[in-house]
Parts: sequence; structure tokens; C-alpha cells
Amino acid sequence: MKTRVDLEHLQVVVVGCRKCPRLVAYLQEVSNHKPRRYRDWDYWSKPLPSFGDPEARVLIVGLAPAAQGGNRTGRMFTGDRSGEWLFNALYQFGFANQPNSARRDDGFKLDDCYITATIRCAPPKNKPLPEEIENCRPYFLEELDLLKKAQVIVPLGQIAFIQTLKSLRLKGYDVPPLSFGHGKLYSVSKRFPTSVGNGLKPFPTELRTISLITTYHPSQQNTQTGKLTRSMFHRIFRMIKKKLEVED
Ligand code: SF4
Repeated sequence: MKTRVDLEHLQVVVVGCRKCPRLVAYLQEVSNHKPRRYRDWDYWSKPLPSFGDPEARVLIVGLAPAAQGGNRTGRMFTGDRSGEWLFNALYQFGFANQPNSARRDDGFKLDDCYITATIRCAPPKNKPLPEEIENCRPYFLEELDLLKKAQVIVPLGQIAFIQTLKSLRLKGYDVPPLSFGHGKLYSVSKRFPTSVGNGLKPFPTELRTISLITTYHPSQQNTQTGKLTRSMFHRIFRMIKKKLEVED
């Protein structure tokens, strides 16, 4: 219960965040210049909260919201083409209750899965600046603490992969240099004290291990060119399932 409340509180802070002036201005510009097909939408145009099951064992890390997708609907990946691929795969493999979600109030729910992103405001041309990624990193670091059951992290694409590694290192995980590609599996661990010692004995420690599974991002650029096919993407979800079964 505490995790749920803490995650909800964090998301309230995120939605109110204005740390990146360039992105705040861009979101305003996007909602002032809606394309004709979305002219009746009341754009969210604020930072997007992450969402999902607070007890999730699987954590998906996107790059950034899409200006006409999540930024329009108010929920990550909701209403955009990447989300169609992602939500469909999540449904096929039992992590979601419906195969697509076009609006944030359509009843879509994640089970054993939580979705977050490297940054939470849509950037121009989908390209965040390094300082914007750093501004947003504390929110992800806090989620890593709060999602205590997360065992498998799946960053979508190379930038999310690099940033996830950096965040895990900052959290004290022993992360060697790792190469990006589609369908790679890595394990990273850290030891942390389980309780305060009495000064005579060493602190008891616990090992926490997280598996990282890499994938190409399900962006239109990748899915329309065949760089990422459905079967390649579904392979990632089979890897996730297998990993969870082994660790059960
Ligand atoms: S990208 Fe992150 S840090 Fe920057 S304004 Fe949006 S929520 Fe805040």
C-alpha cells in the first residue's frame, strides 16, 4: 500500500514539474498548433506520470512521450503508434487487460508491469537535451527505489538503455560496460545492508539482482522499415516470461 501511495505522490510531483524551460515552452506550442485530426482534443501538455502495477516485476523504460501521442492523451504510449505495438505485446503476454489504449480513461490496466520513461515531457523532434535527461533522472531513481519487486527492466531503444545503465550505476549496481543490441540479456547486482548492525558484527547484506533485456524501440521508424518485426518484438516478451519463471 505504501509503495502505491509513494508512487502516486511522486507522479503528482512529476506532473507539476517545470524544470526544463525549453520543454515547457514546446508543450505549449504543441497544444497551440494541433493537427487537424486532433483539433477536438484537449491536450494534456504537461509532464506525463508513469503508470502501472506498483508490485510489478517488469519495468519498461521508454525514451520520451510523443508530442501527438502520450502528450495529447495524458498517459505514456497511449494513442501513438509505438504504444499500439507495446500494448498489443503486453496484452498477448498477459501483462495488460486489453490489446490497445487510445485514451487514458478507457480502462486499460497493466498487471505485473510498470511503464516509465527517461524523460516525461515530449521533446522537439523526439530529441531530449542531455541536461533535460539529467533534470528528469531523479524521478526514475526514485522509482527504482519504490518498485521493490522489479526484477526485469526493459529499456526501449539504445538511449533508454544507456540512461538506464547510468541510473542503475548511480543506485549502486555493479554495471560493467554493456553493448546494446536487440534481444540481449544482462544481469546486474548490488549489495545493500538489511538492517543496522550492533558495531561488533558486520552488517548483514542482501543481494538484489536485476535482469536487463534489450530491444529496439517500437518506433514507426523501426517498425515500418522492418528493423523491428512483430516476431522480434514478441521474442523479447518470451524472454521476459522465461526470466520471471526461472526466478519464481
Ligand atoms: S522533462 Fe522531466 S525534469 Fe524536465 S520539465 Fe519534464 S518532468 Fe520536469
